[in-house]
Amino acid sequence: MTTTEVENFPGFPQGITGPQLMERMKTQAVRWGAELYTEDVTLVDITQRPFTVSSDEHKIKTHSIIIATGATAKRLDLPNEEKFWSRGISACAICDGTNPAFKGVQLAVIGGGDTAAEESIYLTKYASHVHLLVRRDEMRASKTMQQRVLENPKITVHWQTEAVDIYGEGRLEGVKVKNNQTGEFQELPAGGLFYAIGHIPNTQIFQGQLELDEAGYVVTRDFVKTSVEGIYAVGDVQDHEFRQAVTAAGSGCMGAMLAERWLSENGLAQEFAQGEVVKNSTPEESDNDQVADTVESFDLNSTHHLGGYALRRLYHESDRLIIVKYSAPTCAPCHSLKPILEKVVNEFKGKIHYVEIDIEQDPEIAENAGVMSTPTIQFFKNKALVEQFKGVKRKSEYRQMIRNNL
Ligand code: NDP
Repeated sequence: MTTTEVENFPGFPQGITGPQLMERMKTQAVRWGAELYTEDVTLVDITQRPFTVSSDEHKIKTHSIIIATGATAKRLDLPNEEKFWSRGISACAICDGTNPAFKGVQLAVIGGGDTAAEESIYLTKYASHVHLLVRRDEMRASKTMQQRVLENPKITVHWQTEAVDIYGEGRLEGVKVKNNQTGEFQELPAGGLFYAIGHIPNTQIFQGQLELDEAGYVVTRDFVKTSVEGIYAVGDVQDHEFRQAVTAAGSGCMGAMLAERWLSENGLAQEFAQGEVVKNSTPEESDNDQVADTVESFDLNSTHHLGGYALRRLYHESDRLIIVKYSAPTCAPCHSLKPILEKVVNEFKGKIHYVEIDIEQDPEIAENAGVMSTPTIQFFKNKALVEQFKGVKRKSEYRQMIRNNL
């Protein structure tokens, strides 16, 4: 979900973006009868059979589980990190790189792996220059990626260099770095800082219930079997070596087949009647259907709006609560947020306005609103900003926020 071009997934000779690939997989699964709930799992109880998987809205009893919770980007915990987090520091260049605040300024990336290399190259599209901070005297990225970094005139690699803090008045202005060979400190000007220093597996909800290794990855045997019969772990939550979309998809397939086999062997398999298989459009096609509001199409009474024109009109003319979602086409969490927020918005139809702003289409609106990362959600009431959410939250949090401000 959080990569730009995926060049190594079989079947896409021209490459495909990560979010597009995921949307296609989702559409394909739905077409064949999968039911998807975009919710956070808050509790898993695998101490009793059938197991229980709970979210805020559902409690599901199941005989088998396939865990595919992936891994989350690591942070550095620098002294001023919290102050600038999502206000100049990001763990996803692909999501936030298009932000107007990062255009034409110097940017810094930390890390020496493929992600750091890929993100540095990506950021050169927007930045005046990219500084790549590598803590050792070599990178662990693949030779090809290293070569592309080293040959790029817009990237400077700072070897044996570590970030010690970040500085800036209001906005991030730079990174304080230390050369760990000479002990020399330096201030490196940067309007944005991107972490690409690896990941932590998302296994917190399984701690104490499943066998995990010392880094927290689920331990698997016989392909993707976990320490509990009937539970399988697939993708980056159990693989810290290959971590490719194709290997994750392959292990996902193994998990599905082993789960099906195990359910059948134990007389627990349940057949679901397959309804009519619909031929649906590709997600990219349906996404492109949306058209921004114009003088002609704008309707003050409608709930859903798109673009800066609608936002300006609503801001001045409506007394309803206005929810503004700032997103970018390459931002994967924005794609995840879309169905979550739309579900909540539909519950308040006619009582609120919901405006989607693509920060690439309306960069000056994002800049004026001080939006430094996507997705950002701002809530306006009577021309005042009442709340701002960064990243993806639970449905209940959006719902509560709306109720409080109706
Ligand atoms: P990696 O774990 O491979 O690399 C993390 C990098 O961050 C290392 O260079 C590490 O330094 C550095 N690092 C870790 N902690 C710190 C710290 N505290 N301060 C400074 N630097 C730090 O993670 P990646 O996300 O880059 O890659 C994960 C996997 O995904 C890899 O297998 C990679 O090949 C794959 N990948 C493939 C891509 C592709 O094929 N297009 C794109 C992106 C990722 P050190 O080397 O000193 O340990």
